[in-house]
Amino acid sequence: MVWLSLGLRALVNVEALNMAESVGNFVRHRKAAIVVRSDSRYIVRYVPVVSGESMGHAYQSWIARLASKRNLPLCEYCEREEFVKHAQPQLFGGKAWEVQLRDIAMKGERERSKGYEPGNVESSIVANCVVEDIGGFLVTARIPVKRTSRFVCGYMVPAVDALEAAVVEPQLHVRHAPTAMRVTVEGEEARGQMIYYVEVGSAVYTWSFGIDLSSVGVSTYTNKPVVDDKARRARVELALDALAHMLESNMFGAKQSRFNPVISYESILLTLSKDTPFMVSSPTRSSYIEETVRRAKRMSERYGYKFKLVGYAGFDSVKSEMSNLGVEVADTIADAIARIKEEALSWLGL
Ligand SMILES: [Zn+2]
Repeated sequence: MVWLSLGLRALVNVEALNMAESVGNFVRHRKAAIVVRSDSRYIVRYVPVVSGESMGHAYQSWIARLASKRNLPLCEYCEREEFVKHAQPQLFGGKAWEVQLRDIAMKGERERSKGYEPGNVESSIVANCVVEDIGGFLVTARIPVKRTSRFVCGYMVPAVDALEAAVVEPQLHVRHAPTAMRVTVEGEEARGQMIYYVEVGSAVYTWSFGIDLSSVGVSTYTNKPVVDDKARRARVELALDALAHMLESNMFGAKQSRFNPVISYESILLTLSKDTPFMVSSPTRSSYIEETVRRAKRMSERYGYKFKLVGYAGFDSVKSEMSNLGVEVADTIADAIARIKEEALSWLGL
């Protein structure tokens, strides 16, 4: 196994990345209750968050965009960034392999198991769609076929040590049309000018991500590669490049057109581990870098696992902290991911 994990802290101001609902002319930001330790007791805080679904969608969108450019295979819906993922036979696309697979899946529903091998269905989708290879899928035929997502990610949540500085506030906006204060069209009266509120959040956000690079292009039913080594290499590169593009472009979340947030990454830590899944300590406290280094060192001493740690620092103080702890520091996020990619491909023998 070759496992990559990433943890980041970013100061994000005036964002509307994940809206939960609108009530009349008021659009609410997604919020979540979190439990934090204060002195010797625990308290509940409601804070602005961006869901893991939203972040996962953005990551898969970047996989789809880069795959199109690189001529890597995609199913019809994933190509359009609509990740329905063969959830029902009615939602299969029109590509030849999908039509053929739909017939088999429908037959499976009618005739139970005749000619319907879950392992073959998984292999067929993995071979033909890189988004579903990396992001998983669930075909809900009579015998369901499931591929668990190769990557894991969580909510973007304000850092616990900066919780006092996390805010959500409604911003007033007006659809400006003074010449059409009230207009009547075909007997229907409409108001040209309207006020509306959008809740925006500002906080030091934290986010964690992990991916099992060794299982990209490999069947979860047989544990055998579904595509050749050249294709597996292209897919591992794709998985890492998509992450770099997503973070370097800041293109994730919703309402980017008029609420493009002000983002500055404070610190990012990447760990690559061999033969064991290992996650960067939660970046909810700024001590997460030191803690991760200590944990990786101990895991290596106790169990002999191999690690590579690369970081990116937005401040000189974080840069010195990383260097003092023996973490390689890269100039940009893309450079940090490129270093990890080189090592990962060598560990995978691709
Ligand atoms: Zn697909």
